[in-house]
Amino acid sequence: MTTTVPVTVSLRSRRSGTEPDHPDDQLVDRFGRVHRDLRISITDRCNLRCVYCMPEDGVAFAPRSEILTYEELTRVARVAHGLGVTRVRITGGEPLVRRGLESFVAMLADIGFADLSMTTNGIGFERRAQGLADAGLHRVNISCDSLQPARFAEIRRSGDLAAVLSAMDAAERAGLRPLKVNVVVLAGINEDEIVDFAAFARDTGRVVRFIEYMPLDGAGAWDRTSVVSAAKILHIIAERWTLEPVVPSDADPSAPATRYRFSDGIGEIGVIPTVTEPFCGTCDRLRVTADGAIRNCLFANEETPLRDLLRAGGSDDAIAIALRRAVDAKLPGHGINDPGFLRPARSMSMIGG
Ligand code: SAM
Ligand code: SF4
Repeated sequence: MTTTVPVTVSLRSRRSGTEPDHPDDQLVDRFGRVHRDLRISITDRCNLRCVYCMPEDGVAFAPRSEILTYEELTRVARVAHGLGVTRVRITGGEPLVRRGLESFVAMLADIGFADLSMTTNGIGFERRAQGLADAGLHRVNISCDSLQPARFAEIRRSGDLAAVLSAMDAAERAGLRPLKVNVVVLAGINEDEIVDFAAFARDTGRVVRFIEYMPLDGAGAWDRTSVVSAAKILHIIAERWTLEPVVPSDADPSAPATRYRFSDGIGEIGVIPTVTEPFCGTCDRLRVTADGAIRNCLFANEETPLRDLLRAGGSDDAIAIALRRAVDAKLPGHGINDPGFLRPARSMSMIGG
């Protein structure tokens, strides 16, 4: 694990020795990937316990003193913005459970990111949508894994589908568009709803993104048989409707979802094939965990600590160097399909999806 970040070395004077040489002071890794997307987790806590994410009981949360303040997180975001990051997504855990989220959104909005979004489970979002939009949030992804109330509650181990559907309506009323709906597809559990969700995308104009189940569940129960591949998802939808890939010029090549339009022009879906068709070659994402570590990949086994640096009065240059170090250490791929793959010690809710 990277542990030491020199706080005295200036960004522009460090082009010697073991320090990497990066053009334009952007976050470019050894494979030429330019990092423009920062995911900020503001909490590892959550009001749900989705089966694919958190165990039902016995979850150990970071002590509050270890969680970065909004001021600390904003500072990291500001430095990242200076290094070419243009998109920020607030995530968790469940971001809505941390007090003062609206003020944090306003702090990030002040920095001026081209895209400021959030991922949420939607519980309680209905009454906060307008406030978050007013604070400067641009758009939102709402997770919803079933359109059947009982099954929804089974997968998320609580929560109310009606509240999440109302959250979607409220997001759109508040102008948080395009609204994306995240669906984790689990073999034998909700795969029979793939067509229903595709119809939902067509009926509502919301972009439904089917996500392959990743080995990041807190219970460690993931195995390959529980994954429904993106190819299978597309095949199932294509039996009913004709799909056309969204042409690369309209699509962001670094986006995790491969996008498809229905050929009659009504609606759009995406698939996120992390497990079966990794898209690491175009990854431009970097993450900061709620307890102040930089992660260069969801599946990384190493992190670059930031919290002590922030709390010891580290300079902006030192933060920038830490961000660069994390990017420099990024591997070409996540390695899920390698024989020696080791799951990261942290699960999704602790990392920030
Ligand atoms: N609590 C919020 C939510 O559920 O939307 C935000 C955090 S959650 C960790 C972010 C996204 O990760 C959600 O869309 C969730 O469905 C997804 N996710 C969680 N665990 C996953 C897993 N093991 N595989 C794939 N996606 C997962
Ligand atoms: Fe909570 Fe989101 Fe994880 Fe579900 S996916 S347990 S809502 S953090």
